[in-house]
This record gives sequence, C-alpha cells and structure tokens, in this order.
Amino acid sequence: MRRHGRRLAARATALAGLVALVAGCAPGGTEAAADRPVVLTTFTVLADIAAHVAGDHLTVESITKPGAEIHGYEPTPGDIRKAVGADLILDNGLNLEAWFGRFVAGVDVPHVVVSDGVQVIDIAEDAYTGQSNPHAWMSPLNVQIYVDNMAAAFAELDPEHAADYRANAENYRTQLQQVHDDLVERLDVLPVNQRALVTCEGAFSYLARDAGLTEKYIWAVNAEQQATPQQIASTIDFVNTFEVPAVFCESTVSDAPMQRVVEATGADFGGVLYVDSLSGPDGPVPTYLDLIRHDVKTIAAALTADRVS
Ligand SMILES: [Zn+2]
Repeated sequence: MRRHGRRLAARATALAGLVALVAGCAPGGTEAAADRPVVLTTFTVLADIAAHVAGDHLTVESITKPGAEIHGYEPTPGDIRKAVGADLILDNGLNLEAWFGRFVAGVDVPHVVVSDGVQVIDIAEDAYTGQSNPHAWMSPLNVQIYVDNMAAAFAELDPEHAADYRANAENYRTQLQQVHDDLVERLDVLPVNQRALVTCEGAFSYLARDAGLTEKYIWAVNAEQQATPQQIASTIDFVNTFEVPAVFCESTVSDAPMQRVVEATGADFGGVLYVDSLSGPDGPVPTYLDLIRHDVKTIAAALTADRVS
C-alpha cells in the first residue's frame, strides 16, 4: 500500500459530490484510481495542464470550479479537507491566489509554485503598480516552464514514473510551441501602429509580449472590476489614437464597460477571451490548449479582419 493509503477513507468522503478535473484516462491497468497520489491545483487551468503531464499515474483536481473567480476566491472548509488529503499542491504564484498563503499555512502537504522561473512582467497601473502580473499562463512559452516544473515535482512525488512525466511534458511542450508559432504568424500582417491588444482585464501582458503587441486594459486585475470613468476614457483615447480595429473582454467579467468603448470609438467588439478559468467539459474551452487556441484565433481574426480576403 502506498504511504498515503491511510488517508483514503477520509479522502473518499471529501471527494463525494465534487466537480473535479481528473486526469484524462479512465481507471484501468494495474493501478486503481483510488491508489494514485492526489495532486491538488488552485484552479482549472493548472489542473488541466497538470493532468496532461500526469497521464494516468496521478489524480489531479482543482480547488476552484470551472467559471470561478480565482483572484478573490474564498476557500471553504471542504477545500481545506481536500488539501489535507492531497499528496501535492500546485499553485500559480505571482500573487494570483491572494487567498492561498493562508490556505496552505495550516496544511502539512508539500506545495510547488509552477510559475517558478518565468520572466515576470510587473503591473504598470492602478493600485497594483509594481506587483507581478500573475497571468503568466497566458503565454504558451511560459507554460513550457510550467510543465517542466510539474514534471520535476511529479518525479519527486512518484519517482517510479519519472520518465513518463518527462515524456508527457515534452509532448505538451511541442503543442505549446505550435500555438505560439501560429500566433506570431497570424499577426504578422498587422502594421506597426495597429499592433495593440485592448482587453477588460490586464491579463494579456505575457501573450502581448510574445506577439509583439502593445497591451491596453480597462482594469489591472479582475478582483476590482468596477471601471472608473477615467479608466474608460483612457481606453477610448488609446483605441482612437492607434486606430485599434477591435477590442475584447474576458469570460469571467461583464463586458459592459468595453461595450461603452465600442460605442464611443467604432472599434468592433472582437469577442470573448478566456483567461482565469476553463469552461465545463461541454463548453468552448474545456482544456488549456482549447483556451489558448481560442484566444489566439479570436484575437488574430478580429485584428486582421480588414486585411485578409
Ligand atoms: Zn485574472
């Protein structure tokens, strides 16, 4: 029996009724699902990436559910029970999970910050000026670092399958590189003065850097999503100055402030982008690769609409 076996009974109770993201493969082979070590992540995006690296050797779950607001989340007693029963906890870090420090302080389970090693971009506006922008997963190149960190953490947790974790990570890295290459190629037709990405939340600093776009947003972090008149006026100015053809907003917030920018400028509303959460399994972005491909496609289509026949 594995060393975590004694916790299985408690864990089975805690898991009942949960909406959990579980590693893609059904129970089978020699290893029953209940015997696998449990990896707990803070949100759905990390859970999906981790599940791809874990393959069928680990059970991966997310604390927050699809569609949840992640920045200001308040953990429940059930979340604490889940954490106590886990073998490893993964968090994004970079102050994404403002609630996480308190959350893990009382839990004696190892935790790994998966963004460790990315080149951090600081937030340049609002009360958050100078803090790290947490949305590093919005760069497929950064997520290559995430999967390396996950593969290393899983190898330590479960050395027997270290080679599989490494291979899964390599395979995933290849797909991430394709998404990045596609992004750069699709936006190549944009003239220098129109290389701009205008969104509700300042969640796209990393993707904008990868794509060579200037970023403009209404508010820095979704936790404070009341747009001020100054924020809206500043965004309208930006769109007019750069003749930005299209603007965007994220799925987890109201797009009403951005619709005011659209009305005031004549820019198109380019569509809904996904950032802080995956959709449910039947939604438009059930996996991280779906999410990032959706965003790349939506951004490129709207910004280049006038330029492709
Ligand atoms: Zn966010």
